[in-house]
Amino acid sequence: MAYIIETCSSCGNQVNMSVAQTFWKGRVDTHASYFCGKCGNLTEIDWMNDEPEQKIKRAILAQDGVWSLEIRNQDKNRVLIIRTLKAELNLGMDKIKNILQNFDNLKLNGTHAEMEKMAYVFSKCGVMTYIERIQ
Ligand SMILES: [Zn+2]
Repeated sequence: MAYIIETCSSCGNQVNMSVAQTFWKGRVDTHASYFCGKCGNLTEIDWMNDEPEQKIKRAILAQDGVWSLEIRNQDKNRVLIIRTLKAELNLGMDKIKNILQNFDNLKLNGTHAEMEKMAYVFSKCGVMTYIERIQ
């Protein structure tokens, strides 16, 4: 669980918002909530299978570390890997070109849950991956 300082949406008091991200059944869900001791406001925000705000993601990375996913046995699965990355990460052509240039040393970075999701997606199509904490 990570925490960030937020402003209560109803009274403006400073509150501690707790943030958590999970990988579950093929989805990355992010949950944030805070309770304001001054006015009693309870706020919960969910990002279901959706990218949270940058500050939320930064808090998760700071708490749980930055993780990388290395893609193994690439050569015979080249087309499959590119197709999967494109579909899952919504990549444009510039990013795809970048990936193709670094294809022999292909790594993704992100939160632990995001990398677990990508490992899951790749395992479904028979591509081996390896996850490790890099920061
Ligand atoms: Zn409040």
